Amino acid sequence: MSREFLPGGHEDAIIIEMSPEKDNKTEYSDNFPLATIIPRWIFALTEMGIASYFVFKFGFRSGLIFLVYGFVSVFVILPLTRCNRCFYYGKVCNFGLGKWASMFFPRSDDTVYSSAYGYTILLWPLRIIPLGLGLIPILGVIRFGLSVPSGEIGDMAGAVVSNLQLIPHGLFVIYLLVIFLHRKYYRSRSCSRCYHRSDCPVYDKNSILGTGD
Ligand code: SF4
Repeated sequence: MSREFLPGGHEDAIIIEMSPEKDNKTEYSDNFPLATIIPRWIFALTEMGIASYFVFKFGFRSGLIFLVYGFVSVFVILPLTRCNRCFYYGKVCNFGLGKWASMFFPRSDDTVYSSAYGYTILLWPLRIIPLGLGLIPILGVIRFGLSVPSGEIGDMAGAVVSNLQLIPHGLFVIYLLVIFLHRKYYRSRSCSRCYHRSDCPVYDKNSILGTGD
């Protein structure tokens, strides 16, 4: 298989022949299968669904804005800041966005994958807002527990436990679990077969400092 675009901005290097099947150390995916992509979307939609619940509970208009911002983040911000510098531009990446990006956004002249990684800050509200809103009810329960008149540790803990509810407290734990499992999933099923793992800050934070492998 020939590659014309190399991660890390080395696309002006000679076109190299890579034969993943013959490479004993690493197997790469040129196009990821649906069996990898679908679970990623299930994780992402589950996370977004719970996150939206927290924001809608805060306010209907806020929830709508959050949903629109999530949509714009995935289908516009990501393609403009990552997909357009990615080996998988025009291909089926592990999230399936490479094809979408190539249909609607031009490839960047800047081929260093992590060069626009700082714009990830634009995606932070999608996590920070639901994390904050999900945490507030739990802090309320803990505060209630700390205020029991006896001041006994056992009474405080009992008050906290007896006031925990499946929704919203349990839902917040599930939300954290989904984020954790999603990360575990793509690190093992996607990153491990991705051409960008050597220059991707998600996989190797040193890559953004230029000290990665
Ligand atoms: S290394 Fe992982 S997070 Fe980074 S581009 Fe590849 S699949 Fe995505």
